[in-house]
Amino acid sequence: MLKLFNSLTRKIEEFTPLHPPQVGFYTCGPTVYDYMHIGNLRTFVLSDLLIRVLKQNGYQVKSVRNITDIDDKIIARAKEKSLSIQKLANEYTKAFFADLDKLNILPVDVNPKATEHIGQMVKYIEELIKKGVAYEKDGSVYFDISKFPEYGKLSGLEGRTLKTGTRILSDEYSKDDVQDFALWKAVSPDEGSPSASSGSASWSSPWGKGRPGWHIECSVMSQEYLGETFDLHTGGVDLLFPHHENEIAQAEAKTTKPFVRFFVHGEHMLVEGAKMSKSLNNFYTLKDLEKRGFNPLALRYLFLTAHWRDKLNFTWDSLTAAQNTLNKIREQLRDFDPPEIGCSEFEQKFTEAINNDLNLPQALAVMHDLLGSDYATSAKAKTLLKMDEVLGLGLEKYIGQKIEVPTHVQKLIDQREETRIAGDFNKSDQLRAEIKKLGFEIEDTASGPKIKKV
Ligand code: AMP
Ligand code: ZN
Repeated sequence: MLKLFNSLTRKIEEFTPLHPPQVGFYTCGPTVYDYMHIGNLRTFVLSDLLIRVLKQNGYQVKSVRNITDIDDKIIARAKEKSLSIQKLANEYTKAFFADLDKLNILPVDVNPKATEHIGQMVKYIEELIKKGVAYEKDGSVYFDISKFPEYGKLSGLEGRTLKTGTRILSDEYSKDDVQDFALWKAVSPDEGSPSASSGSASWSSPWGKGRPGWHIECSVMSQEYLGETFDLHTGGVDLLFPHHENEIAQAEAKTTKPFVRFFVHGEHMLVEGAKMSKSLNNFYTLKDLEKRGFNPLALRYLFLTAHWRDKLNFTWDSLTAAQNTLNKIREQLRDFDPPEIGCSEFEQKFTEAINNDLNLPQALAVMHDLLGSDYATSAKAKTLLKMDEVLGLGLEKYIGQKIEVPTHVQKLIDQREETRIAGDFNKSDQLRAEIKKLGFEIEDTASGPKIKKV
C-alpha cells in the first residue's frame, strides 16, 4: 500500500487511482529560457522517482510533462539575445532533455508544448467566459476569483482579503496579491511589432492578438491528455500558489468536477540557506558540476539522501560525499557474481520505505544494509537491481565488470609500487599521475594497490 503526503488535504493518505491500474500523472515542466539549475532538477528527479515507485507498485502510469515555450521570460531573453523565440526555446528544450538523460530520468509519455495547444486554450477560455467566471478587459481575459468560492483551498488563503475586481497580468505573484489573474494577455504596445529576430509572440483570438497566461496552459494540456479528473500532479513548492491554485480554479470552474486527486510538491534546494533560483543568481547547472569532475548521477544520489518534503542545502562537500559513496558502491559491484535469487527480507524493507511517503533516505539505508550483509553476491545483485529500478543510479552496468588493466598500464603500476616501497615518493607520485591520465586510479590498501577506473 502506497502512502503519500497530499498537499490538497495536508495529510499522508493512501494512494488509490481513479481507474486502477491506470494512473494519470502530470508534472509541470520547464520554462525554456535558460539551462535548468540543479534545484529545478531536484523537482524533476522527484517526479521520476514517484513514477518509478508507482510502476513498482504495479500501476500503469500515463505521464505528461509540458514544455512552457512561451512566456514573459522567454520573450525578454529572446530579445536580449537577438534570437527568435522559437530558436531560443528549442535550444533550451534540447538542453533540458540532455540533463534528464544524464540523470537517468525516464522519458514520459507525452511532452506537450504550450505553443502547439493555443487553439485548445482559446476554446477553454471561451467556455470559462460562457460560464460567467471569466471576463474580457482591454483585450485581455481574466479569471474572476469571486465567482469560484473554493479559491484558495490548496494554498490556504483563509482570512486573507481577496482583492476582487482588481487584476494582475503577471503570471508570478505572491500570496498577498490575491487578485483576478490573466487567462489571455493582450499584446502590449511594445510587443506589437516584434523585431524580425525575436519573432512573433502573439496569436489571434476573439479578444484580439495576444498570448495565453501560464496557468491556463497546464489546465488545458493536463486535461487534454489525462481527462477532466486525474490522479497525480507534481511540481516544486513554489508552484502551489498561484500556479496550482489557479489551475484548480480554471479546471473545476469549467467541469464542476475535482481536477486532481493528489498534489505532490517537492521542497526546494537551497544554497547557503537561500532558495536556489535564477533571479538570485545563486544557482548551478549540471554542466557546472560536470566541469568540476562530478558525475551527474552523484547529484541524483545526493537528492536521494534527503526526504522530498525537506529542504536540501547544496554544498560541494555533500556532493563530494555523494560521489565517493557512489564510486564505492560501483567498485563493490565489480566483484559481484551475476544476479540470482534475491533477498526477500531486504526487498520487503525497501518496499516499506518507498511506500511510506517515498522515504528515500530510508530506502538508501536499506540498500547499504543489503550491500553490507552476508548474503551471496549473486543474491545481493538481484535485489540491488530491483531497488535500482526505483533509485535509478544505473548500477547494473557495474555488476561483475572487473577492471581489465592493459599490460602497459600494469607495468606502470608495478613500477610505481616498487618506487613507493623504495621510498621514492616523488617518482611514485609522478607515476600515479601518469596512470591517472590513462584512466586508472590507484588506491593503496593493506593488501597492496587496488586499481579503479577514473
Ligand atoms: P521553472 O522552469 O522555473 O518553471 O521551474 C521548473 C520546476 O523547478 C518547477 O517545478 C519549480 O517549482 C521547480 N523549482 C524551482 N526552483 C527550485 C529549487 N530551488 N529547488 C527545487 N525545485 C525548484
Ligand atoms: Zn504547470
